[in-house]
This record gives sequence, C-alpha cells and structure tokens, in this order.
Amino acid sequence: MLASTGVPTRVDIEKAFPNEVRMNQGAAAVIECFQNIPCNPCYTACNRNAIKEFQDINDLPLIDHEQCNGCGLCISKCPGLAIMVVDMTYSEHEGLLKIPYEFIPLPVEGDIVRGLDRSGKHMCDVKVVKVLNTKYLDRTPIISIAVPKEYIHNVRNIGMGD
Ligand code: SF4
Ligand code: SF4
Repeated sequence: MLASTGVPTRVDIEKAFPNEVRMNQGAAAVIECFQNIPCNPCYTACNRNAIKEFQDINDLPLIDHEQCNGCGLCISKCPGLAIMVVDMTYSEHEGLLKIPYEFIPLPVEGDIVRGLDRSGKHMCDVKVVKVLNTKYLDRTPIISIAVPKEYIHNVRNIGMGD
C-alpha cells in the first residue's frame, strides 16, 4: 500500500509508535520512515543515542523509545517530515502531537483546525497549542496540537480554511 499510495498501513503506523506503557509515560518520538533512502540527519540530531547509529546510510532509522525523552530536536532536522512527537500525558482526554508543518500561513495558538490522517481525510477537530516557527533558523516549523486520545494514531497533519 505504501509503495502505490504513499500512505502507510495501520500496522506500519502502530509499529512506529512507542508501546502503550511508554506512551503513557510521556513524550516520545514517532518515526514514520518506511523507505530506504540515503539520509541520516535524525541520527545526527539525537544527542541521547535514542536513534541507533546507521550501519549503512540507506538504513531505516531504529529508535529506542526508552532512551528518547521527546525533546523534538529530530523533528525539524528530518527532510522527509517523517518524525513527530507524541505525549499521552498531556491531559485526561487528549494527547499532544508535535508535527512538522511547512505550509503557510502558519496556524495561531488557540486555533481549532481539522486533524487530518495520512491520506488527508478529516478525522476530528484539534486545538493548536503551540507554534514554534524556526524558519528563521532555516528549520521546519513545529506545531503542537491537542488530539482526542482515540484519534492519536490517526491524526498526522492539520488543515485550515475551507
Ligand atoms: S525526540 Fe529527542 S531524544 Fe527522541 S529521538 Fe528525537 S532527538 Fe532523540
Ligand atoms: S532524517 Fe527523516 S527521512 Fe532521513 S532517515 Fe531520518 S527519519 Fe528518515
């Protein structure tokens, strides 16, 4: 499915997430990088050795979620926009997702926007909690969104306007 549509399967997605115990302990990265390409800035960005050293530049990244503290440094370093951070301790009913976002205009904190799945389908509404615009550092902006917990595996992007 990924090769023909660019959309990973539910199984692929769930494998990229931390396990349930780790998810409920706090922020951790989710790396949805499924194709062997010559790329490794995620590894060089991580100063906790959570992303294991690549044996070959074409390797897929391998993350140890126990070593990851969800700092998010790797998010804006990934040219493929393949990394986000999930934090299920955000509130009783919502998890926090930190996603890379390269569209303009950027949303504004407090906005209620559409939470989209990996195919662009509207799954639920989400609240923009924070906008970290690092464009001036030549890095991808990071948007933090509060997502109803039951949609945490579904939402991967946001949509604004009509
Ligand atoms: S979120 Fe931070 S600790 Fe986790 S993999 Fe990325 S850079 Fe490493
Ligand atoms: S930087 Fe992004 S695209 Fe490159 S290997 Fe890491 S996760 Fe994949």
